[in-house]
Amino acid sequence: MTDPGGQPGLRRRDLLAGMGAAAASTIAAGAGALPASRVSSWDIYADVLVAGSGAAGTCAAIEASRAGANVLLIESLPRFGGSSAMSAGVVYAGGGTALQRALGVEDSVENMFNFISAAGGKHPPLDKIQLYCEQSSAHFDWLVEQGVPYSQQMSPGMIVPQAGESLYFSGCEQAWPARELAVPAPRGHVPVATGMTGGRVLMEALLAQATALGVRLQAEVSGQRLIVTGEGRVIGMQVSMAGETRTIRAYRGVVLASGGFIHNRDMVRNYAPELYDCSVPWGNVGDQGMGINMGIGVGAAALRMHQGFAIVPLYPPQSVLSGIVVNASAQRFVAEDTYYGVLGDAIAFHQQGRAWLITDRRADPPALQDNFLQVAQANTIGDLADQLGFPKGALQDTVAYYNRHAANGDDPLFHKRPPELRPLQGPPYRAWDLAVDKAFCPAHTFGGLQTGVNGEVFNSFGEVIPGLYAAGRTSSGLPGAPYIASGLSVGDATFFGRRAGVAAAQRGGAA
Ligand SMILES: Cc1cc2nc3c(=O)[nH]c(=O)nc-3n(C[C@H](O)[C@H](O)[C@H](O)COP(=O)(O)OP(=O)(O)OC[C@H]3O[C@@H](n4cnc5c(N)ncnc54)[C@H](O)[C@@H]3O)c2cc1C
Repeated sequence: MTDPGGQPGLRRRDLLAGMGAAAASTIAAGAGALPASRVSSWDIYADVLVAGSGAAGTCAAIEASRAGANVLLIESLPRFGGSSAMSAGVVYAGGGTALQRALGVEDSVENMFNFISAAGGKHPPLDKIQLYCEQSSAHFDWLVEQGVPYSQQMSPGMIVPQAGESLYFSGCEQAWPARELAVPAPRGHVPVATGMTGGRVLMEALLAQATALGVRLQAEVSGQRLIVTGEGRVIGMQVSMAGETRTIRAYRGVVLASGGFIHNRDMVRNYAPELYDCSVPWGNVGDQGMGINMGIGVGAAALRMHQGFAIVPLYPPQSVLSGIVVNASAQRFVAEDTYYGVLGDAIAFHQQGRAWLITDRRADPPALQDNFLQVAQANTIGDLADQLGFPKGALQDTVAYYNRHAANGDDPLFHKRPPELRPLQGPPYRAWDLAVDKAFCPAHTFGGLQTGVNGEVFNSFGEVIPGLYAAGRTSSGLPGAPYIASGLSVGDATFFGRRAGVAAAQRGGAA
């Protein structure tokens, strides 16, 4: 016989037996913590144990060490730095940072708060946003004090500066509707670097500080389970080290800073299905969700697990933004000149992952960029629409409406800005496939453990789990969907990582 799942020979009672086994393994996994009573001896000791050597973990280690703690930082991979070292190192900072002031940029805490709190998704974490905006300027000073280099040059472009400039508009501040919510200000602070290597520069400076402060850095040590007392206090971690299982005693606290889970494909499919189809898991291979799962194993709540960064990098060149982006009904649905994280979110989460860029003769030469494939070309919009299989007449209506208003410098639907706002003006018309599974569409996750402003981790009843802290993409922080600006993730990781380190070091003392 054939079972409902199509496997020959599997009978109903086998299926039920299998379900029983699955339930048993769920229960075993649910006991995802190691009771302290089962630890007969400890192998390694520290006041504060930090799991993960990216921006969040390294900043936590630095501040915990400065607060007087003996700190051990473990990293599951052979190299330190995590996704943070792969990143462009952009930190979103504002409210009048030293660099903004030096470059004559006007900004205020209130303005920055208005942008971050209103331009993104619904019900953002206002307490974290408020604190971050208030202390963002001082946080930038702190990064400079750690040795992160910045230049006093600003880039006019929409992408990470490539020639050593350290300030740019890194998000959707100037696009509609964000520009009506707050006065646009450039807030992307980028370490002086060649191309996209700012993250390496940032992490080299932070890791050097941690080393100088005496933080013990141990690579190829992977956290597996938290160790908890009968009262639910986290006092250590079971780790895997050179193929052996070891226990680490953390007298004051454990900071989980182990990144997100984009490389754990089962977790992505289960928690964030819209990100599963995105063509490029964007991050360091250590993004396996281990920190989040260790937290869940001791009862931590996890928030916004479906949210993430889905990027459709339409630009550069900026000239392609004179085209229009349409969905499967040939309708526009987003301002084409917005930040590519907002565009990617709109496609991945709100258009079933499918969209097309339509360009005209002025957008030639056809090799606009290599992120997308050209999938149709025609001398009329009608023929192009037929090739794409759009509903009859829909694309013609969309283009006619867009052209009529664009000729008057107007975009009633999405308020695109000139010079990219202009009518589509003649053949060859081309369509470029922006489908998230076909185009170059990098994605990573934002969901993580529920934390307070000091990194303390909460359980589902809103109670603090004693001894446990989390930061960066292991926690649910400032970044949400849509992701409105580059730099919010590393900004959040460095800022709240620092606070988690201080809080962990100050807690308790030797138990
Ligand atoms: C190419 C690229 C460019 C980007 N550019 C930017 C940018 O400019 N600005 C920005 O804000 N964001 C950027 N991002 C996103 C950003 O890099 C990450 O979201 C951020 O760095 C996450 O920091 P983190 O400290 O939480 O994690 P990570 O930096 O990933 O560090 C986590 C570390 O924990 C380790 N780890 C995992 N599990 C365990 C375990 N069980 N035990 C011990 N260690 C463990 C991992 O191996 C990793 O080294 C970019 C991402 C990519 C891929």
